[in-house]
Amino acid sequence: RQKLRVIKAAQSSKQAQNDGFVLEDVPHLTHFLPDLQSYPNPLQKSQAYAIVKNTFVSPEDVVAQNIVIQKDSPRGIHFRRAGPREKVYFKPEEVRACIVTCGGLCPGMNTVIREIVCGLNYMYDVQDILGIEEGYRGFYSKNTLKLSPKVVDDIHKRGGTFLRTSRGGHDTHKIVDNIQDRGINQVYIIGGDGTQRGAAVIYEEVKKRGLQVSVAGIPKTIDNDIAVIDKSFGFDTAVEEAQRAINAAHVEVLSVENGVGIVKLMGRYSGFIAMHATLASRDVDCCLIPESPFYLEGKGGLFNFIEERLKENGHLVIVIAEGAGQEYATADLNASADKDASGNQLLLDVGPWLSQKIKDYFTKVKKMAVNMKYIDPTYMIRAIPSNASDNIYCTLLAHSAVHGAMAGYTGFTVGPVSSRHAYIPIARVTERQNTVELTGRMWARVLSSTNQPSFVTPQDLIQDGVQKETVKEINK
Ligand code: ATP
Ligand code: MG
Repeated sequence: RQKLRVIKAAQSSKQAQNDGFVLEDVPHLTHFLPDLQSYPNPLQKSQAYAIVKNTFVSPEDVVAQNIVIQKDSPRGIHFRRAGPREKVYFKPEEVRACIVTCGGLCPGMNTVIREIVCGLNYMYDVQDILGIEEGYRGFYSKNTLKLSPKVVDDIHKRGGTFLRTSRGGHDTHKIVDNIQDRGINQVYIIGGDGTQRGAAVIYEEVKKRGLQVSVAGIPKTIDNDIAVIDKSFGFDTAVEEAQRAINAAHVEVLSVENGVGIVKLMGRYSGFIAMHATLASRDVDCCLIPESPFYLEGKGGLFNFIEERLKENGHLVIVIAEGAGQEYATADLNASADKDASGNQLLLDVGPWLSQKIKDYFTKVKKMAVNMKYIDPTYMIRAIPSNASDNIYCTLLAHSAVHGAMAGYTGFTVGPVSSRHAYIPIARVTERQNTVELTGRMWARVLSSTNQPSFVTPQDLIQDGVQKETVKEINK
């Protein structure tokens, strides 16, 4: 096997020189435990899979990160395709799996838990599955919960996480001691960027100790800010629910004179929910996101825009992502920001701040009464169960994670890359955040749909180091 690996590495590096093919591979247990035995995948005998044309995914199958490339240009980064492998590295009766959820709530967490349990049990006949309660700290401060398809049967119909969650409390040594003491050999970790960083260090420690433990991350972020993957679970559900809040604001402002509706949506560093909800709803006059700084006063400022829209239509709706205008509000309020238990910067509540600023400006400066309607649907959105498409998506994520762990992959995150599910090295999804590209087409669609000021000029973008060509493109 070692020899084969060397030949393959040589082949792939030769190939890389030829056509710019790069494989960002995920670790495998055999990388640090070369003497591991492999076994035929029990799916071979499964009735459901017996009729599948190609039951198993070839370990050589890869997924391209960029599906649009120019002729003769480098093929770029690829990841291993997710799916069941012909050989597995765990005997089902020897598997002791555990599942943990960390960070904030997001629709679909329960579906992922349910489908990991059912996937392990129905596809691989794994009986021993433990739930770690209340996030990372639950490894060493709580008793475990025995999970079976019966226990998790209808949890996907509920919001939140069946296993509960927490922030902070990540003690790598204590967690891995516990994994070792309990004889756990598959760890499924559902959580956001912080959680995936935690999963990466757990994997490193497991590797250092030479344990036959597979560490699989399932990225959870309602903000859709995880890099590499196409979209995170719960995002569709969140956008759908956000639309309801926008609709309510719209109904309110339509019914009064000079109605100004403000809807604050999630998005600490990325404005995807605000951007997609704006595009979906069509009732939004202005969408403010963290990536695009805005200003209130002067020509081209928000106050001017509001005044014009009120004159034109008698009402307007503004959507603001929670991370938008943070620096502006911090300076304005002369505030200092705190941190949460996980070390994340706590944000100022920009919704009430913006509402007050607008109200003050129109009543005091313009001597004009506005009817302010402020809606913050954050907790309502986070708490709902996932919709149909997210439920299906969560099932695929959970199954990919189960197939990957059974096949002996470790230190990996699952997710769709260019519409195909892939195994991605954990570090790749935590090294940077996914943000809305101000020079991208989607943001241009928002600007043209709302007809709002862009606040940022092409010159600003040049100063920020964005290439001139891109700026030219958005100017077209
Ligand atoms: P979200 O931000 O979407 O709510 P998250 O996973 O980013 O989810 P956090 O509260 O930041 O939420 O982190 C969740 C868990 O991960 C916490 O228990 C925290 O201690 C742990 N964690 C965060 N960052 C790291 C890190 N760099 N190393 C180890 N553990 C970490
Ligand atoms: Mg986070």
